[in-house]
Amino acid sequence: MFCWNCGKEIDTNAVVCVHCGVSVTKMRKENTDPLAKSKLVAGLLGILLGEFGVHNFYLGYTKRGLAQLLLTCVGWIVIVGPIIAYVWGLVEGIQILTGTIDKDADGRLLKE
Ligand SMILES: [Zn+2]
Repeated sequence: MFCWNCGKEIDTNAVVCVHCGVSVTKMRKENTDPLAKSKLVAGLLGILLGEFGVHNFYLGYTKRGLAQLLLTCVGWIVIVGPIIAYVWGLVEGIQILTGTIDKDADGRLLKE
């Protein structure tokens, strides 16, 4: 992890930053991973564009996103395809916002 004060890399279990001496215990509750994806963005993408799998592509769940995209683009042949994809995306969007889905495809926790 990185020190919130000086920005230098420090041990994940560190209590105090070895570079500037500031306490880093409060950091652990917040997600300071610079690569963490936004929960709000992912959730809204799921609710608004879930039928195209956009939120899953954003989180790195490529196969799941592709399944939703195909369901929307090809699934109209059986009429219910896009409806299933829409509801699926909507449910996942809500699960992301409520914290049921809290990690991206790489296992990184989403940030608020
Ligand atoms: Zn520091």
